[in-house]
Amino acid sequence: MDLQRDYDFSVLVNEAERMVLDELGRELEGAEERGTCICQDCVLDMAAYALNMLKPLYRVSLLGTMYAHAADGTAFSDQVKAAVRAAVKKISSNPGHD
Ligand SMILES: [Zn+2]
Repeated sequence: MDLQRDYDFSVLVNEAERMVLDELGRELEGAEERGTCICQDCVLDMAAYALNMLKPLYRVSLLGTMYAHAADGTAFSDQVKAAVRAAVKKISSNPGHD
C-alpha cells in the first residue's frame, strides 16, 4: 500500500528539529557581527550537524502545538543546547565554502 498517498504524514514531526531550530535561532543572534557566516548553506549545515548528534523525538501532532513545548526545560533540551553550540563552532570554523 502507498502510505504517503493514503495517510497524512505532515502531522508526524520530529520535535528535536523544532527545538534545534529554536535554539539555533537564539545562538545565531548577533553571530554575524562576531564573524560567523549565516548563509543558507552554513545555517542548514549547522542544523543538520546538531540534529545528527541528537536522538530524534518524533511525535504525532494531531493537536497542533499543544504539546510542542513538553520537552523544553528537560535534560533533552540541555542536549539540544550543547549540540547547537557544537554545530555552530564546527561549521563556522570549517564552512563548506570559501
Ligand atoms: Zn556560509
